[in-house]
Amino acid sequence: ELKKLAQFQKQLTTTADQRHLRIEANIGNDRDLKALDSSAEGIGLYRTEFLFMGRDHVPSEEEQFESYRKAVFYMRGKPVVFRTLDIGNDKQVHGINLPPEENPALGERGIRVSLDHDKMFRTQLRALIRASSYGDISIIFPMITTIDEYRKACSIYDEERATMIKDGQNVGNVSLGIMIETPAAALIADQFAREVDVVSVGTNDLIQYVMASDRMDGNVADLYQPLNPAVIRLLKFVVDAFHTEGKDVAICGEMAASHMAIPLLIGMGIDEFSMSNESILKTRQFISHIDSKYAKKVLDDVIDNAATVSDVIAKLNHFLDKI
Ligand code: PEP
Ligand code: MG
Repeated sequence: ELKKLAQFQKQLTTTADQRHLRIEANIGNDRDLKALDSSAEGIGLYRTEFLFMGRDHVPSEEEQFESYRKAVFYMRGKPVVFRTLDIGNDKQVHGINLPPEENPALGERGIRVSLDHDKMFRTQLRALIRASSYGDISIIFPMITTIDEYRKACSIYDEERATMIKDGQNVGNVSLGIMIETPAAALIADQFAREVDVVSVGTNDLIQYVMASDRMDGNVADLYQPLNPAVIRLLKFVVDAFHTEGKDVAICGEMAASHMAIPLLIGMGIDEFSMSNESILKTRQFISHIDSKYAKKVLDDVIDNAATVSDVIAKLNHFLDKI
C-alpha cells in the first residue's frame, strides 16, 4: 500500500481519462513547510494567521517577510497562495483586540479585521510584496462578502506596492484574489470572476453559512452537510461563473480531500485541490481511478434529481462501487 502510494510522489495529478488537475498543500507555518514532501504541486493555502498566533506580539514586517520568503524559496518556482490574516471567531492573537460578540462567526473576522486595522494590514501586505520578488505568489483575502471589500483591499495593496516601487524596493508579480466562503460572495461569483485573478473556495466556512450550522457546534453537526444539494448547487454555480471568464477555480476546505466529495468536484470541473500534506498522495491515487466524464454525469444527476443529502450519498455510492 505504501509502495503503491509512493508511485504517486513524482507524478502529476490526472484522472483515469487523463484530465490534469493540481493538488497543492495547505500550510500554516515554517514547520508545516519543512514537513512538506515533494508531491505538492504548490501551496494552495498559506494560513498566515498561524504566524501571529501563540506569540506575545504582532510579528513585524521583517519577521513576516522571513517566513513568506522561506516558503516561496522552498517551493522553487511552484506557486504559493498566501491568505492574509484570518482571525476572529475561533482564532485570536495577542496585540489585536477584537470586541466580544454574541455571534463571532457573523462578526469581526477575516478581511473585516484587516480593513479595520489599517497599519497591521499594510505591514502584512508589504511583507508579502517583498516576498514576491523571490517567486510566483498570489494573495487572497478571507471572508470576503462584498465587491467593495475586495476593491478596498486591492487599493490598499496598490498604494503599498506603488510606495515600495518608488522607494526602489524589489517587487515581483502578484496575483490577487479572494476566498469564497460566504453565500453572498458565491452568489455574485460572476461579478467577482471579472475582477479577481485567483479564487479559492473555502468550503469549511461556506458550508457553515449555507447550512446555517456552526462548524464548531456539535449540537448542529448533523446539519453541517458538505454533500447537501444546496452546497453542491452553489459550488457548481461558482465554478461555472469563473470558467465562463476563463479562470481556474481552487478549493481549499476539508471537502477537497473527501473521497465522497471529489467525484462531484471533478464533475463540476474544479481545477485545483488544496489539502493537508498527509492527504496529497492518497487523493492523487484516488483521483487516478476517476473518469471525469462519468463524474460529470453523476454531478448532473445530483443537480437535477437529488433532494436530500441521502439522495446524493446514494448516487455517489453507486458511482464509487464501480471503481
Ligand atoms: C475554509 O473556510 O474552508 C478554509 C479553508 O479556511 P479556514 O478553515 O482556515 O477557515
Ligand atoms: Mg475559512
